[in-house]
Amino acid sequence: MPELPEVETVVRGLRAAVIGDTIESVWIGSRHQPLKSPAAEIVPALEGATIAAVRRMGKHIVIDLSIGDHPAAHFIVHLGMTGQLVVSRPEADTPKHTHLIAKLASGRELRFTDPRMFGKLAVTHEFDPGGIEPLDLTLEQFVPLFRRRKTPIKSALLNQQLLRGVGNIYADEALYRAGIRPRRRASSLTHAELQKLYQAVQQVLHEAIAAGGSSVSDYVGATGEPGFFQLQHRVYGREGERCLRCKTAVKRIVISGRSSHYCPKCQK
Ligand SMILES: [Zn+2]
Repeated sequence: MPELPEVETVVRGLRAAVIGDTIESVWIGSRHQPLKSPAAEIVPALEGATIAAVRRMGKHIVIDLSIGDHPAAHFIVHLGMTGQLVVSRPEADTPKHTHLIAKLASGRELRFTDPRMFGKLAVTHEFDPGGIEPLDLTLEQFVPLFRRRKTPIKSALLNQQLLRGVGNIYADEALYRAGIRPRRRASSLTHAELQKLYQAVQQVLHEAIAAGGSSVSDYVGATGEPGFFQLQHRVYGREGERCLRCKTAVKRIVISGRSSHYCPKCQK
């Protein structure tokens, strides 16, 4: 599933490719699962609009549209598990599971494909996904988010109403770097531990963005090429393998239905 760094990578690719381009026409497929707004709202909001900006909010891609010089709707794309938003030449084969094609004035096409259809497409005039951007917040804002939470720290990190965009992989990686067990109650963390965790979250996300996002499952970047350099996962997906620090076998447990990986020796 694309997480914050993957979405950021897609956003940066799109930004370089489509800003200033105008959407001439929009085709929407017959499958309605990915549509959070009805096709009858999406099509007129997009057609004739210029792409003024492409931003990331948590794991959402926010495309700011304008009509002439006037701000218009936001086109919101959530990639879900397998969604891809790709700029293609019109002659490129249309992949199966293409749900939206926006023809651009430059001659190219912005295509949304999603085999598993957990992705979401919407248009709106106001968008607030809740939570705070993990890369924008200070330590002083981070610490109180977790102070009174009785849930495991792993669940709190995944709570999108607290930090938006931190997903399973980077939560595991950050907890490993901070030396904190995923099952620890958030409220039991000391200030020093929260400080370490804050730094680890920032570090892991920045490194992953610099690496172009981890290439997991069906994820590809905005121009469609797979095979990004992958951030070396230190614990995620390494169940039974040796901890890179102390050689203890990495454990996997399930917390709130999600796999959590940790080193029983390095993480307290
Ligand atoms: Zn270890």
